[in-house]
Amino acid sequence: MTAAAQSGSAGFPVRQGERGWTGAEIGGLREQLLIDAAEQRAEIARTESDIADRYGDAVSEAGDDQADVGAKAYEREYELALGYRARELLAQTERALARIDEGTFGSCESCGEPIGKARLQAFPRAVLCVACKQREERR
Ligand SMILES: [Zn+2]
Repeated sequence: MTAAAQSGSAGFPVRQGERGWTGAEIGGLREQLLIDAAEQRAEIARTESDIADRYGDAVSEAGDDQADVGAKAYEREYELALGYRARELLAQTERALARIDEGTFGSCESCGEPIGKARLQAFPRAVLCVACKQREERR
């Protein structure tokens, strides 16, 4: 295992025909995930403060006409949805980071097969292999 350690092999699974992960590649992905997590946290904070700024005084705007209230409610729904989406992304990002730290990164959470290096380099947050992902989407 000395040679593997020296070449920086990180020991995470790859699909047949793919080159093993190097420590540098995993390090790069981890860094990217940390940057993503920071951006997603900022996005969540921004959405929340937007909602608070804009709708915090909703009660005092009793003079608004119905259409206006409706538009505002719709807008609020939309921003809340953005917030949920950002939160979901952040949860996925944090999960990927935890998987790197735990050493389970790279295996499909459903079938246990390697997710594939190419797929993970494109989608570091992926926790399912392509086959399982497609099966899940078909449900
Ligand atoms: Zn799978």
